[in-house]
Amino acid sequence: MCRDAVFRASARASRGCYRAIVPIPRRYTTEAIVLSRFDFGEADRILTVITPDWGKIKVIAKGIRRPTSRIGGSLEPFAELQVALARGRTFEVVTQVVVEHAWLNLRDSLESAATAWYLAELADRSLEERTAAEPLYTLLKRAYGLLDAGMAPGRVARWYEMHLADELGMRPEVDRCAECDRMLEAEERHRWVPAVGGVLCDRCPGPTHDRAGLSLEGLKLLKAYQRLDIEAIAALRLAPSAEREVEAAMREFIGNALERQARSLAFLDEVRAGV
Ligand SMILES: [Zn+2]
Repeated sequence: MCRDAVFRASARASRGCYRAIVPIPRRYTTEAIVLSRFDFGEADRILTVITPDWGKIKVIAKGIRRPTSRIGGSLEPFAELQVALARGRTFEVVTQVVVEHAWLNLRDSLESAATAWYLAELADRSLEERTAAEPLYTLLKRAYGLLDAGMAPGRVARWYEMHLADELGMRPEVDRCAECDRMLEAEERHRWVPAVGGVLCDRCPGPTHDRAGLSLEGLKLLKAYQRLDIEAIAALRLAPSAEREVEAAMREFIGNALERQARSLAFLDEVRAGV
């Protein structure tokens, strides 16, 4: 159902696909990946985590910033964790943490780490709290595994953005005109218009140019991200100009779908400018 949802207007309607609220038991153990965190009080930390069955939840790690904390070094972002939780008054309370996949290599490159933050922010913004999110959890886990294995962060990010759009029921239209539904011809002029869900043909009204400046080469690459598996994408030899176009096109598309640009993009751009 969710996948077939026709992309039209607001992202909010499609995000309803994740809105089946699941009751949470008093004590439970779950796999989790940290999406964001902030310090709270004298020694606590509040974290937003994604879990397969319970979706996005807020948890509190009491006393974690004390040197004597048992869970101190283990409740970190960019790792798959097994966490034991107890239902608290406001937040779930973390009682135990086991690191399942540390993905340590991912942290060695600043660009990979900045990309990992960006992917986490997109997951965070795509989910409502306490709604099952197994496909998104699996997507983020796979992306972190790929970054850890040394795959180019830009390609992992584009692959992730494309599949995230899919999971949100907003698969970008790259073959047919998003307005009149006519199949684009091989060399036909087109415009990339995220607000209508993808490409517009030359005959349909709309903006006279696309902001991302998507050439035929760029459009082909978007199709590749939609159709090929990530191993095949990793092996492609790509013109840097096409990669830049597709990056701009997908940023605009995801920014539009989630109703604003990700905050972590500024940091990612800064890191890349300094590389
Ligand atoms: Zn058209």
